[in-house]
Amino acid sequence: MKMTKVEIFHVRATWSPNWNPVIIRVHTDEGLSGLGEVGLAIGVGHSAGVGMVKDLAKKFVIGADPMKSEGLWESMFRGGFWTLGGGAAVCGGMSAIDEALWDIRGKALGVPAHVILGGKTNEKLRAYASQLQFRWTEEVNQKPAVKPEDYAEEALKAVSQGYTAVKVDPLQYDEAGRWEGWDLRKVISADKLKVIYDRMKAIRDAVGPDVDILLEVHGYLSTTTAIQIARMLEGMNLFFYEEPVPPLDVEAMVKVSQNTRIPIAAGERIYTRWGYREYFEKHALDIIQPDLGLAGGLSEGKKICDFANVYDIFVQCHVCGSPVATACALQLEAAIPNFIIHEHLTWALKKDLRNLVKQDLQPKNGYFHLSDAPGLGIELNDDVMAQYLAEEVK
Ligand code: MG
Repeated sequence: MKMTKVEIFHVRATWSPNWNPVIIRVHTDEGLSGLGEVGLAIGVGHSAGVGMVKDLAKKFVIGADPMKSEGLWESMFRGGFWTLGGGAAVCGGMSAIDEALWDIRGKALGVPAHVILGGKTNEKLRAYASQLQFRWTEEVNQKPAVKPEDYAEEALKAVSQGYTAVKVDPLQYDEAGRWEGWDLRKVISADKLKVIYDRMKAIRDAVGPDVDILLEVHGYLSTTTAIQIARMLEGMNLFFYEEPVPPLDVEAMVKVSQNTRIPIAAGERIYTRWGYREYFEKHALDIIQPDLGLAGGLSEGKKICDFANVYDIFVQCHVCGSPVATACALQLEAAIPNFIIHEHLTWALKKDLRNLVKQDLQPKNGYFHLSDAPGLGIELNDDVMAQYLAEEVK
């Protein structure tokens, strides 16, 4: 079997200029095709993702055998010159291509990708409702949660749908609802700390002691302020504390970890085994959050998760993209023994995103159950996707 064509779709979300999933479909001379996604749907970099897939596809993919994904990964990594340095664009492009090969392999063998990854270790996957500050709803263009009662209301919505865990960033919007309105890198003043505390307390009081609350701060904090926040929230029995500091300084993460009893999570901006190695060796994290569309695809993701298991570190894949990203994460999470919880983002509820594919990947009563469909178990809705076709490499 040989790969003959790569289609690159550059999706533009109707609800936000900041949401642009890059989805690819790799075709073969035997009629099989596979899907993958560059994990750069939010923020800047999605156009670079389109370009990186295009360049990699031309040089490495067309004419290659899709059943030899390990060799292709090495070829891309060692043979693309800049690829040896990793980073978001390089690893995003490689990841999307690698994921598509797993989809093709599963279809060629007639089994889901998780069967080839070792089979189900987890029969059902516990999901959490992610990023409540944007509101937990199918509706778009909602005002963010600002008052403590807004946060309580969103958490209760998720709990009423069967979720037993919710995640929130209580400092992404300031007390007036302004996006990133606070300077959070210097010592945080008492009045701002109170706003953050009241939001978290409102959630805990609303959901009671039996629902897990996950704290996310998107790397906005300095080491000093990350420890301030952790100490203030110690008593709330939080499930984890995500990206307390940016990922480039491992020692900063170690310092935060040593100054709080809350388990520390990070990984959406860490790439490949080499990126994770120092975090593992220094036990800087309790939970890793590799984005399979950035960390190196399913091939590299499996290795990173197994590597983490050596250090008693658990896994929640970062999922912040189209349903293709969700499908990839579920396949790996079903197979690995150190899976801890699955991220279901509020954007994953939006109709426009769900309409990109034929299957509707939503948890039931807070849990995902995988189908037995081959490969990633997902197909594009061509009527919708045609408008987003940006490049075709043959
Ligand atoms: Mg995050």
